[in-house]
Amino acid sequence: MSKKVVVIGGGVIGLCSAYYLAKEGHQVVVIDKTDMLDGASYGNAGMIVPSHIIPLAQPGVIQKGIKWMFNTKSPFYVKPKASLELVNWLYQFYKNSTQTHVNNSMQHLKNLSFLSKALYQEFAKTNKNFLYQEKGLLMLYQNEKTGEEELKTAKIAQQFGINVDILDNKQVQNIEKGTTVHALGAVHYKTDAHLSPHLFLKFLKEEVLKMKVKLLANTEIIDFKLNHTTIQEVKTPIGSIKADSFVMAAGSWSSQLLKKLEIKLALLPGKGYSFDVSRTQNLPSVPAILCEGKVAVTPLNATVRFGGTLEITTTNDKKINLKRLLGIVENIHSFYPDINLQTPTKEKVWTGFRPCTSSGLPIIEQSKKFNNLIISTGHAMMGLSLAPATGKLVSELVSNTKTSIDISAFKIK
Ligand SMILES: Cc1cc2nc3c(=O)[nH]c(=O)nc-3n(C[C@H](O)[C@H](O)[C@H](O)COP(=O)(O)OP(=O)(O)OC[C@H]3O[C@@H](n4cnc5c(N)ncnc54)[C@H](O)[C@@H]3O)c2cc1C
Repeated sequence: MSKKVVVIGGGVIGLCSAYYLAKEGHQVVVIDKTDMLDGASYGNAGMIVPSHIIPLAQPGVIQKGIKWMFNTKSPFYVKPKASLELVNWLYQFYKNSTQTHVNNSMQHLKNLSFLSKALYQEFAKTNKNFLYQEKGLLMLYQNEKTGEEELKTAKIAQQFGINVDILDNKQVQNIEKGTTVHALGAVHYKTDAHLSPHLFLKFLKEEVLKMKVKLLANTEIIDFKLNHTTIQEVKTPIGSIKADSFVMAAGSWSSQLLKKLEIKLALLPGKGYSFDVSRTQNLPSVPAILCEGKVAVTPLNATVRFGGTLEITTTNDKKINLKRLLGIVENIHSFYPDINLQTPTKEKVWTGFRPCTSSGLPIIEQSKKFNNLIISTGHAMMGLSLAPATGKLVSELVSNTKTSIDISAFKIK
């Protein structure tokens, strides 16, 4: 049965949901408070990483985070703020950072990631415009301790059937022919891919418009009209919109909106930066993560995008921290000594918010409280990677059909 569906949020999760919902014959309206041109889904590093099957909440991460907190150039920071949300998020994150949680999550994350990659391959068959490429991902490291950690992670990935090569520095240089690499070695995840996020979102918008999806930009959802366990309409400054089903895909703002529905979700924004460097010099040709500084490197056609930092903060905090930016630039110089790069001015730096749950897992579920609400958010550093699979699952939940994979791990607990 065709339903009228309102999708709250026009980032990559909302647009992929709209795509699969419309394909199933539903009438879809996507509502976003911005112009849908510059959010987290647009300026991210563009990596599709099915290799990443370990959730952010994992043993050792708290100790590492505390150490990083005292280094102003480090890739991680929690903005100290006396808020109940932050205290609750940190406590839940601490409780979730166990081996049992990791063991219970990996197969589920792998299934979601691999479904997503297969769907990306389908998209890429019909459209070349968003620069989808399968070159894998190099996890480059410079010191032995980081190398040991990376090899341990690689072994786990291999146990899950993920295609991995362990490379020494010569082998790294054989693969990366674009520029000199200063690394002790790398783990090469050959399953991984990358694309231009801006161009992928442009493609998605064009596709959904062809299927008569309405895109309502610059329209903020400010409240809901409820009838017991059913949401009847969303309220916006230009009036209310009724629907049969509602999809919460508001990224880092999801917990604030869910609060209006009296649904608690420990989710906070993880601010990150990116900037593009044009190909006027020899730049990397293979996507990489510079492990010591957690800098993402994504070669696109005419540019290379560099991205990094995860600062747990609030959605009002769009400030660019120059010290952390300098940390990114120093890392790039250290790994790629031949790149001539000045620290970009603030105007050249993009910033966006990763929606980070306290479990490090996304939420994809039929709400327990409202019979016509699907919650689809919290994809943190993997929202682009996981978006097509999430969109397909959302459409299956709305259509009340069996989901393509088991989604029991992706619930608010
Ligand atoms: C520096 C950086 C690098 C990254 N690199 C990668 C990567 O390489 N690979 C990867 O997989 N992921 C990456 N990510 C993560 C990825 O960008 C996010 O997980 C993803 O964009 C989240 O998508 P979303 O649709 O959930 O949220 P968003 O893109 O934030 O979309 C949510 C939308 O909801 C709208 N909204 C919010 N509140 C309301 C309201 N009240 N009314 C109407 N609209 C509302 C917002 O305006 C927004 O447009 C990166 C993120 C950062 C910051």
